[in-house]
Amino acid sequence: MNILVINAGSSSLKYQLLNPDSGVLLAKGLCERIGIDGKFTYKPQAEGKEVLKAVDVAMPTHSEAIQAVLNALVDPKNGVVGSMKEIDAVGHRVVHGGEAFAGSVLITDEVMKALEDCIPLAPLHNPANITGINACTAVMGKEVPQVAVFDTAFHQTMPPKAYMYALPHAYYEKDKVRRYGFHGTSHKYVSTRAAAMLGKKPEEVKLISCHLGNGSSVAAVDGGKSVDTSMGFTPLAGVPMGTRSGDVDAGILQYLMNKYGMDIDQMLDVLNKKSGVEGLSGVSSDFRDLENAAEEGNELAILARDKFAYEVKKYVGAYAAAMGGVDAIIFTAGVGENDGGIRTAICQGLEFMGVKMDPATAGIRGEEAVLSAPDSSVKVLLIPTNEELMIAMDTAAIASGK
Ligand code: ADP
Repeated sequence: MNILVINAGSSSLKYQLLNPDSGVLLAKGLCERIGIDGKFTYKPQAEGKEVLKAVDVAMPTHSEAIQAVLNALVDPKNGVVGSMKEIDAVGHRVVHGGEAFAGSVLITDEVMKALEDCIPLAPLHNPANITGINACTAVMGKEVPQVAVFDTAFHQTMPPKAYMYALPHAYYEKDKVRRYGFHGTSHKYVSTRAAAMLGKKPEEVKLISCHLGNGSSVAAVDGGKSVDTSMGFTPLAGVPMGTRSGDVDAGILQYLMNKYGMDIDQMLDVLNKKSGVEGLSGVSSDFRDLENAAEEGNELAILARDKFAYEVKKYVGAYAAAMGGVDAIIFTAGVGENDGGIRTAICQGLEFMGVKMDPATAGIRGEEAVLSAPDSSVKVLLIPTNEELMIAMDTAAIASGK
């Protein structure tokens, strides 16, 4: 079975064609500048096939982008499948499923209506995801099953005490203001892998999953279910990120807005795009740049890395307390998979709760590995995330009626 995985943004579209049973990736790529001029990138994963990098392909809408993807995949010379018939289903990454979706679903007219209803919760992302689905239907027809896989769905198992804010209850009842959490596909994938690495069933383990990338979130996963997570109503909450502030005292907003005459959009622009480790250091949102600057003695770069690790560490402690223990801490995504210094800083001082890192593992990057010492009662695991594979696995299961 081959699954086409689509992650549609407002002017871009990432795609992968993969086999969820074997995990084999056949091709991947990117359509950019949709609605402007159109740039097409195609990376077939087979010997002797030509890679296309940002070549000009007219893409007035997402439909031409999908058509370009399909043309490349079935191209007689450079393609990776013989015909469209070898693409069994399409899995779409959808950012927000609200409270309507606690799992992946086959896309039907009713589901499309429910997705539209979720737009107010993710006004920047969901419209692009819907456009991507409509473009696939237009180009591939209704016969090819399409599945929506939500960033929020995995966290729908949180109990009310974790997802409710201490705000007037009407804001939840009337306006659906609550913690949703994001990165759910990644947290689900790595927590499933972690259980396998521990030789246990997901139901048997308590895990803390640290997805540390450009955007970062921590999740408490008890018995295979998310019971709390650091992102909230939006992805702005939780730990500091590349350019997002993470948690701040809401009183700061009023103070700064009054002082500098900012409106709420300008204030949120600061919190989303000019804060985080970039805002704090004045150096970069990229942890590699921060590491280099820190090595050269840049004190604000050192502070930004310390602050990031400290806030993640606090979530680890909080979630261990919330679950009454933890069997393993997982590191994933760009920073978690590569930055041994940050991983060490997060775990340092957690010996009291049974976390003992193996210092020899600090240089390990991008491969599944046990990072804790053999006598550590809490295991520390590096697990590269693979959201596309998770989407493909869910899509295959739903499309084949499992
Ligand atoms: P996204 O949230 O955009 O999916 P990623 O998970 O790809 O982000 O993470 C991107 C971040 O990972 C980069 O901004 C960078 O800070 C960090 N990163 C990537 N490679 C390394 C590395 N070798 N060492 C340290 N940090 C890295």
